[in-house]
Amino acid sequence: MGWSKRGNGKSYDSLNGYGTIIGFLSGKILDYAERIRKCKFCDSGRKKDDHDCRKNFQGSAKAMEASAGAELINNSSILKEANLEARVLIGDEDSCTIAAVRRGNPKTIFKLADENHLKKNFSRDLWKLSSFKEIKKRSIDHIKKCFGYALAQNMGDAQNLAKTIRNIPDHLYDNHENCGSWCSRRSGSKEQTILLTNLSLFDKLSALCEEYAANANKFSIPASSQANESFNNIMAHKSPKNICYSRSESSSYRLASSVCTKNDGDSCIVEIRQKLQLSPGRHTLFYTKQLDAKRQKRALDAKLPAAKKRRIIKTQEREELRKNNENSEGVQYKSNCGLSQDCEDLEAFDESLINGPNIQISAETCNLVFFDLETSG
Ligand SMILES: [Zn+2]
Ligand SMILES: [Zn+2]
Repeated sequence: MGWSKRGNGKSYDSLNGYGTIIGFLSGKILDYAERIRKCKFCDSGRKKDDHDCRKNFQGSAKAMEASAGAELINNSSILKEANLEARVLIGDEDSCTIAAVRRGNPKTIFKLADENHLKKNFSRDLWKLSSFKEIKKRSIDHIKKCFGYALAQNMGDAQNLAKTIRNIPDHLYDNHENCGSWCSRRSGSKEQTILLTNLSLFDKLSALCEEYAANANKFSIPASSQANESFNNIMAHKSPKNICYSRSESSSYRLASSVCTKNDGDSCIVEIRQKLQLSPGRHTLFYTKQLDAKRQKRALDAKLPAAKKRRIIKTQEREELRKNNENSEGVQYKSNCGLSQDCEDLEAFDESLINGPNIQISAETCNLVFFDLETSG
């Protein structure tokens, strides 16, 4: 599911959203649906049938995902035509789409967790424990790595996966009795890099791992919703989130165009033009071919193990560079750093540089100039 307006993590208030179902094997979009809450023509008092009205939803932005998901899986005309029934749903754990789907479907629908969202949620749960001193970025990265190994090495074996996940806290607390062959500490060949000692943290970690282990059958089969994210990127390109297209039929056309690009590449433009009996255009032909070739090459390259390794190394290098730079520069950017009078981090600065000369400024004594630094946008 994608929304056409950015959410800030707490509230989502997009006027429209779009959902797609993507085949696990083909990676292509099978069907798509959209939920539109507003129509500028209806709002200006025009009748619903005198314009191309696309408004089809009343509820909140968050309810769009479940609604579109249930429609796509239970009532998709394309799936029905092909005599297909979806029985396994791969998705994130954030929405109640699966509940909506099951409500409208008499058959048993299985749910698999998406690997990327799963890892992200696991990391978020770990950060919640950051009140413990031993939970730092370095230890979290290590725990995440253990979790990743557990997933990768127990594909399709829920029982072993659950066992491995339950064993993670023991491994962190230097108890390697039940570790698998992957653990280099077991054979004593390497020193333990991350060693935790806090016992109440051990209980919390065990509870967390137990929670994931109990659901191991949901993610023992590796399933990724990466294709959805790539589609969301195409859509963000054709319908930028900072411009509102969702009050007219424009957003629907942009969505349909994104679906074509995702499934057939940019050369679909040429076919569409031919269908409309327009000349395809020499430059368009050349340009779209070039774009498609580039995209295919990039997709193939990105899957290679060498490319993955390179990405990890690059990320580490950037992180190192950031740390080094920030250490040598001192505080350069911090929310409200201009307002905080006694901010400790700013001690390195000459205070008068931040706070300015001690003069009372008022509208009578000065010509005031207002400006707005929209840095977050
Ligand atoms: Zn309308
Ligand atoms: Zn171990």
